[in-house]
Amino acid sequence: MGKGRWGFAARIVALSLALFLLVQAAVFGIVQASIERTARQQIAAELQVDERVWRRLLDQNAQKLAQAARLLAADFGFRTAVSSGDLQTIRSVLDNHGARIGATVTALIDSNLALQAAGEGQDSQALATLVGQIAAPLSRQSVGSQIALLNQVPYQFVLVPVRAPVLIGWVLMGFPIGQALLGDMRALSGVHVALYNPAQSGPAAVLASTLPAAAFGARQSEPGSGLGPGLGPELKLDGDTLVGRHVKLDVVGGAGIDGGRGQLQTLLLRSFTDVVAPFRQAQAALAWITALGLVLFGVGSIFLARRMTTPLRDLVRASEKLGQGDYQTAMQHTERRDEIGDLAVAFDAMRVSIDAQQAEIRKLAYWDRLTGLPNRARFRDAVQQAIAERAIVHPAQARSVASANPTLAVVVLDLDRFKLINDVLGYAFGDRVLEAVAKRLAEFATRPGDMVARLGGNSFALLLAHGDLPQALQVAERIAQSFEAPLALAEQTIDLTAAIGVVGWPAHALDADTLLSRAEVAMYSAKSRTTGIQLYDSALDSASNQTLSLLSELRHALEHHELRLFLQPKIGLPHSNPNAAEALVRWQHPTRGLVPPLEFIPFAEQTGFVRQLTLWVFNEAASLWHGLQTTDQAVQVAINLSTRDLLDVDFPAKLDLILQRHQVPASGICLEITESAIMDDPLRALATLNKLHERGFELSIDDFGTGYSSLAYLKRLPVNQLKIDKSFVMAMERVKGDAMIVRSTIDLAHNLGLTVVAEGVENAAIYNALKQLGCDEGQGYFISKPMPAEQFVAWSRKWNDKLDANRRDYGQSVPMPLPQSGN
Ligand code: C2E
Ligand code: CA
Ligand code: CA
Repeated sequence: MGKGRWGFAARIVALSLALFLLVQAAVFGIVQASIERTARQQIAAELQVDERVWRRLLDQNAQKLAQAARLLAADFGFRTAVSSGDLQTIRSVLDNHGARIGATVTALIDSNLALQAAGEGQDSQALATLVGQIAAPLSRQSVGSQIALLNQVPYQFVLVPVRAPVLIGWVLMGFPIGQALLGDMRALSGVHVALYNPAQSGPAAVLASTLPAAAFGARQSEPGSGLGPGLGPELKLDGDTLVGRHVKLDVVGGAGIDGGRGQLQTLLLRSFTDVVAPFRQAQAALAWITALGLVLFGVGSIFLARRMTTPLRDLVRASEKLGQGDYQTAMQHTERRDEIGDLAVAFDAMRVSIDAQQAEIRKLAYWDRLTGLPNRARFRDAVQQAIAERAIVHPAQARSVASANPTLAVVVLDLDRFKLINDVLGYAFGDRVLEAVAKRLAEFATRPGDMVARLGGNSFALLLAHGDLPQALQVAERIAQSFEAPLALAEQTIDLTAAIGVVGWPAHALDADTLLSRAEVAMYSAKSRTTGIQLYDSALDSASNQTLSLLSELRHALEHHELRLFLQPKIGLPHSNPNAAEALVRWQHPTRGLVPPLEFIPFAEQTGFVRQLTLWVFNEAASLWHGLQTTDQAVQVAINLSTRDLLDVDFPAKLDLILQRHQVPASGICLEITESAIMDDPLRALATLNKLHERGFELSIDDFGTGYSSLAYLKRLPVNQLKIDKSFVMAMERVKGDAMIVRSTIDLAHNLGLTVVAEGVENAAIYNALKQLGCDEGQGYFISKPMPAEQFVAWSRKWNDKLDANRRDYGQSVPMPLPQSGN
């Protein structure tokens, strides 16, 4: 984080400062270059002016000189002296006059332009040579001047005629061009002036200068630094740069310039520094502005960077929170009207959406969509948590927990025949039933910590967080009672029943998973026993464990011929003769002995194995069928079918094959089908029933009276027979209502054209009563318990013999109690 924290801001600041400095440096460079250029141009222009001034100054000097010379030439005394050739006087006048006007050289030249007389103390020989050089050209000009070197000193000479009135001679006057004149020039235009002889080398060549001689010393020792014309040399002096301009002067005479015209140069020099000074001030101001700008820019960009990176850091922190699963904290900076604001808004939208998705996922994971109840996972967690709270062994808490209620209970409920509701009334209706049941159950979760959940399909669970077992059983009782009232939904009224299992903690299990699975064991037990409510018992578990292992052995049993077919006779009531037998399966277990069908059939049905079992029974019965028939009595064999058989579309064809194999007519077989087997999937069951009916099988509704179907509905099925359930028959002598049910069932069935069989005929009283009610057939222990198939023929013969004897002895067809066998 440390690097990232300032990294971005620092980079922004550094970049903007660098850019600023770059721009400033460019400006500075351009300004510097243009100052230099402008300064040089300005100096060049000034030096040009200076040159004109300088020449003007020399000119004026010459005029002044000529004026003085003319005054002298006009002087009467002087003219007289010249006429008379009085050299003494001439010299004296020349001296006086020259001194008066500051001319250092004064001379009289004769009309032949030869030196006649010179002022006192003058080198007359050098002067004579010079006169030879300059007199002739000067005499031809009206007012002319000539610069010439005399003993290495530059002079400005003028030559004026002396007339009396004819030309009698010339006056030559020369002024030194020296320090004084240069001083005047400097005073006049502020320029430095140096006078030098370009033909010479060494410091001595500089004849006069407004600068100290040292300024030229170094300069001139440099080879090749010839002082050319125009903008020439630059002199460095005390840190100043002097830019010069050469002004060439025509000169005559001087040593080294052998007798001809030589050159004398004036160097005009102006200080670069002086010209640049005002610019330098502007430059300094620019530098200050740059410095100030740098500070302002730095501060500004730090501010900007922070304004940008602070919210970014906030967003980073916020997204870290998201990463940790905190979706509640809203994003900051969403109110900003810039890209960061947009980013924050996008982040916040993402947060809200993730939160919603998480909530959705949580809901999907822990809540049932249809009923809005917690699902199995959520319920299991709740039970686990409730157990954990009670299991805390903490002295301080133990007492309060114990005083509250240290136990809890779970009630599991499973709706009966829910598939039927879905199939007959549609899934939408089924959903509404589930919702209604959920609502009903919710009323029983009354105390804090209680919870109703949908475990899946049509099973629900109720956690009684503070309930003990008696209380839980009471609640279960009340739930069962609430189911007694039919459910009215969309103009439909349906009866609902449910199997309920009850467990308690810590009595039945110590952990949530075992507790739940035991609640379900109890519930399944309630279902198979149709007891309604079942409290868990460890015997239930071992029973179900036993049956499970039995189931795995069942296949083995079929393959190894451990199954036995028993037959139980049915007696035709008017004449009391055995005209049918129900095939009932038994399992001759190698160690457990004879296992009754109720211990393995339900589980064979659950796994689908029952289909093989049915086919085995059918095949066995068909193979015995011919052996059962007697000359005077046809015996029909009844075979029990299960739901699975009815749902198997190939089932009728499989029966065809078996009948064919054993040459048995379909009418010789009765197929017993329970109501619930039809109701599991009425449409498919009906299709199968139709096929079986077409083949000529007799079809019988088994266990009639235990289900909910009306006779009117059953009439629509292709059935021939009703078999009244033994529970009604066995109790018909004792329970008046049951006798009524049996009676009305017999009447109704007959009205619908069905024959009626009563099972559970346990005594002679029932037998006779049924006979009187017009029941068609009877089956029960009073007649015979189920017996091994091979004993049936012998029993049947014995029964008929007894019957004949009774008829003979008593004149009535009442069978005598016979010795019981089998079962
Ligand atoms: P179920 O089809 O109702 O068969 C009649 C049951 O009632 C038989 O029990 C029989 O022994 C019993 N019973 C007959 N008369 C009396 C009586 O007077 N009093 C009493 N208390 N009981 C009587 P079982 O053989 O134990 O069979 C029980 C059930 O097992 C059968 O009920 C049937 O649903 C099933 N089952 C038996 N064999 C088969 C089979 O081969 N296939 C299929 N799918 N189910 C079978
Ligand atoms: Ca039966
Ligand atoms: Ca039955």
